[in-house]
Amino acid sequence: MKRKLAAVAVLSATALLTGVIQVSTAAQAAPTASPQAQAARQHATALAVASGQAGPLAKALGLGDKEQLVAKDAVLDKDGTRHLRFERTYAGLPVIGGDLVVHQKADGAVKSVSKAVSARIALPSVTPKVPADQAAAQATGAVKATVGATLDADQSPLADVHQTGKAQLVVWATDGNPRLAYRTTVEGVRADGTPSSQVLVTDAATGAVLSTHEKVQTAAGSGNGVFVGQVPLTTAEAGGQYQLKDDTRGGQSTTDMGNGTSGNGSPFANTSNSFGDGTAANRESAAVDAQFGAATTWDFYKNAFGRNGIRNDGVGAVSRVHYGSNYVNAFWSDDCFCMSYGDGSGDAAPLTELDVAGHEMTHGVTAATANLNYSGESGGLNEATSDIMGTMVEWYANLPSNPPNYWIGELVNLNGNGTPLRYMDQPSKDGQSADYWDASVGNLDVHYSSGVANHFFYLLSEGSGAKSINGFSYNSPTYDNSTLAGIGREKAAQIWYKALTTYFTSTTDYAGARAGTLSAAADLYGSGSAEYNAVAATWTAVNVN
Ligand SMILES: [Zn+2]
Repeated sequence: MKRKLAAVAVLSATALLTGVIQVSTAAQAAPTASPQAQAARQHATALAVASGQAGPLAKALGLGDKEQLVAKDAVLDKDGTRHLRFERTYAGLPVIGGDLVVHQKADGAVKSVSKAVSARIALPSVTPKVPADQAAAQATGAVKATVGATLDADQSPLADVHQTGKAQLVVWATDGNPRLAYRTTVEGVRADGTPSSQVLVTDAATGAVLSTHEKVQTAAGSGNGVFVGQVPLTTAEAGGQYQLKDDTRGGQSTTDMGNGTSGNGSPFANTSNSFGDGTAANRESAAVDAQFGAATTWDFYKNAFGRNGIRNDGVGAVSRVHYGSNYVNAFWSDDCFCMSYGDGSGDAAPLTELDVAGHEMTHGVTAATANLNYSGESGGLNEATSDIMGTMVEWYANLPSNPPNYWIGELVNLNGNGTPLRYMDQPSKDGQSADYWDASVGNLDVHYSSGVANHFFYLLSEGSGAKSINGFSYNSPTYDNSTLAGIGREKAAQIWYKALTTYFTSTTDYAGARAGTLSAAADLYGSGSAEYNAVAATWTAVNVN
């Protein structure tokens, strides 16, 4: 997928990064800024204050050294009083019921604290007795046991459970008795066709269900996309019609370009709150893919990295589908803060696959962070970052209709013979991409010089050699004939994201990427840790030394 180069005028993020303590309620924006822009600026500044104070406040509140505060929101009163809202982690685990609000005077003095739970958290260990897979199975079993039962008069009974969710280790503090627990989301469908997404918290020692809640409210919409199949969608209601607009994710929306190339398109609106029929002939189906792709990318970045939208400012982007005529591509533009999807050959094969959505929006993340120049080796790293995170979005969604893998665009069939656009396990399989670094790799088109970093990411995640992963076969080679074990894609993605957002700059090349990811691995896992050593060995395996 190409990236439309834009004369980027990304808003300064300086206010978010500084540790400013003094906040004035006087307008800090330029006098010409709209009231909304001023409010957004003030909120960003207040959030920066909250972030800057998270450490000192944790100490002042007497939290243990394993506890950390994570700024979530901040409200500024006219008299300068501020209300800083935090979530909490314990040994890096999210604490459910760990949220608190610190009320401060204008001079920073703490007036009072509102805590969800006052109990101290001191766990003897953060090693769970029940393994994650078993916990996920227990949670899924508990939901399956309710199929057919009418538990809530407002909801149609659960008809089916699609798949076992992934169990995330957390600390459950809500009942005042903090202990290790798992949070598992179990997807299903209700008898009336409404999707179900139940979040269960189970005790990590006993497996007992501690809480259950349904994320899909009956007002939520649903869609049937070309590639994503039947999925839940958060929609907006206006004038008796539902729109593909998601106010829970920065207001991101999807519009119909009507096969034109100018303007922002028209919103998709429908009286039934159900969009698309799974065929490309129905104009809503591609829109369902795009809207779901945007939502999943939003959720992935939020849950994996705590990122609040593409620019980390809570603002959602616009997805424009049915762009152009016979347009066989998709692109991101910083100018319109939007992505556009063509309908492909004969306007019958939209480019709205999930890893493409994740790829395009990641160009926006890169623009807002390292801003890697889109040429030479840095351009290859820019493209690879999009392929890496696009792939991670696909794994995050884990859709039955689009089983995750390490290939790019394997469903859109751009080659016409059913082969993927790009292969991360062995990039040269596309006939153009580089498996390994050499001095001329920066002369390749950025979609091919990306191969070295894509290969690095695959090897770091999964290791070398022949293997089958999630039903797909790979046989990833190494330049130095070394055998690598891999550290898992989650850790590999954490390292890449940290490097992208803290160490990479516009001019980072492959040697710089090696140094930056090593610094990131040292920050995350320790210098000389297994992860750090794996990063070093994996770069060597793609001839970056
Ligand atoms: Zn791209």
